[in-house]
Amino acid sequence: MLNLIPHWIGGQRAERHTDRYGDVFNPATGERTARVGFATSTVVDEAVAVAQKAFQSWRSVSLARRSRILFAFREQIERRKEELARILTLEHGKVLSDALGEVSRGLEVIEFVCGAPQLLKGAFSENVSTDVDSYSIRQPLGVVAGITPFNFPAMVPMWMYPVAIACGNTFVLKPSERDPSSSLFCAELLAAAGLPEGVFNIVQGDKEAVDRILEHPDIRAVSFVGSTPIARTIYQTGTAHGKRVQALGGAKNHMIVLPDADMELAADAAVSAAYGSAGERCMAISVLVAVGSAGDALVPRLRERIRKLRVGPGTEASSEMGPLITRAHRDRVASYVDSGLSDGARLIEDGRTLNVPGHGNGFFLGPCLFDQVRPEMALYRDEIFGPVFSIVRVASYPEAMELLRKNPYANGVALFTNDGGAARRFQNEVEVGMVGINVPIPVPMAYYSFGGWKQSLFGDSHVYGTEGIHFYTRGKVITSRWPDPQHRGVDLGFPQNR
Ligand code: NAD
Repeated sequence: MLNLIPHWIGGQRAERHTDRYGDVFNPATGERTARVGFATSTVVDEAVAVAQKAFQSWRSVSLARRSRILFAFREQIERRKEELARILTLEHGKVLSDALGEVSRGLEVIEFVCGAPQLLKGAFSENVSTDVDSYSIRQPLGVVAGITPFNFPAMVPMWMYPVAIACGNTFVLKPSERDPSSSLFCAELLAAAGLPEGVFNIVQGDKEAVDRILEHPDIRAVSFVGSTPIARTIYQTGTAHGKRVQALGGAKNHMIVLPDADMELAADAAVSAAYGSAGERCMAISVLVAVGSAGDALVPRLRERIRKLRVGPGTEASSEMGPLITRAHRDRVASYVDSGLSDGARLIEDGRTLNVPGHGNGFFLGPCLFDQVRPEMALYRDEIFGPVFSIVRVASYPEAMELLRKNPYANGVALFTNDGGAARRFQNEVEVGMVGINVPIPVPMAYYSFGGWKQSLFGDSHVYGTEGIHFYTRGKVITSRWPDPQHRGVDLGFPQNR
């Protein structure tokens, strides 16, 4: 009997009837390890009703108590991070050290919102008119929802629910159906930290659950992270139903290397950022734009490093890169090697021949590297989301910038150079949301905010940081007179400041 992964509603595991299930695999062995029942609209309605009821009291819970619960949650995660990382590795495939990195970046968001009382402070102006004061407050929206991707099953939800909950909202999470267990583990830790029932809920599922979330009249806001076509639809449908929506999409992150860069540093950074988590990161580098002589300097250095990479099951400490999420995804990624060859790109490393002893059924694909990739090739145009890395050669910095300008994605970008003036010019003119200078994966700290430009983000606000606090609250401005001994009776004129 396969384990059935349930929902989490009203502070407990909840199994509900369904006719539709998804399979969860261990990507390193190819084994089916669990089934997840997909929520019907009725289950989504139940979770939203529970969250709506919980909101009536949670919104009035003092800031001090909310902070303490989040701090206790932080302590729970810190204590049990190894267990959480192991769940991530078993369902996603990423290596344990990478899974621990994911947990620690999620933890930073929880730590940030432990200071929510400071972040939720309004402004006060005394005597805006004689004996009249004006002040602003930020209030929670109500029930809000998060829909998250497979590649960071713990961290991406943590970009959302700790912030929303700290602001006084209640939350319904629809995690990826491919690796749903880590969210349940976190739900249990939230309960152990003292979060009241119904404040955080999980509905497992697919499009049916998402469609109901998007149209549900009691859901005030939706945060989405996933691929660009789905992000666009979520944004359009959610806003058409009157919701506040932030929808983060896909990426094709470029790393530009100028000829004066430190080539050893650039090669280390490129290999780490291209093949870490088997390329299944929205901030992975998938294109290296080599300016002038940088290409010839980098190719042998990249090859040397790639050949030393140890690919294997994520649970083994020696593995640096694990398998891909599913067999279908592995095969789709591998098909880009064929398309690159038929389009005339030069294959430098072919990961299709990789053999991981004892793991013949795992979803492994070794690191692949192409040189002489051109912008019209599918290798360059598509988000591959796997360990297939492309080098595009250009003659000059303006040519590199033109590539970036034409690219529809604009999540992250990196420039490698030793020229401070060039770096300064780049950070000023590049049209990308997150920029690294000699840093390959510039994921902003929890006290900044995360989000791309162009088709990597639909909506106005980034996730977490003060933008997250703003997204999950709305402003109210109050003008008050206490008392008014000099009131002048009825006055139908428009109120003027005196
Ligand atoms: P996905 O778009 O397939 O799925 C994301 C979520 O949407 C999942 O919960 C899924 O169940 C749901 N979903 C899928 N198809 C749907 C449909 N037709 N209608 C409604 N909901 C649907 O993405 P994924 O494969 O899970 O994750 C990888 C993608 O996420 C990549 O494109 C990656 O770049 C992107 N991503 C972006 C960021 C970012 O911050 N911009 C971060 C992580 C991942």
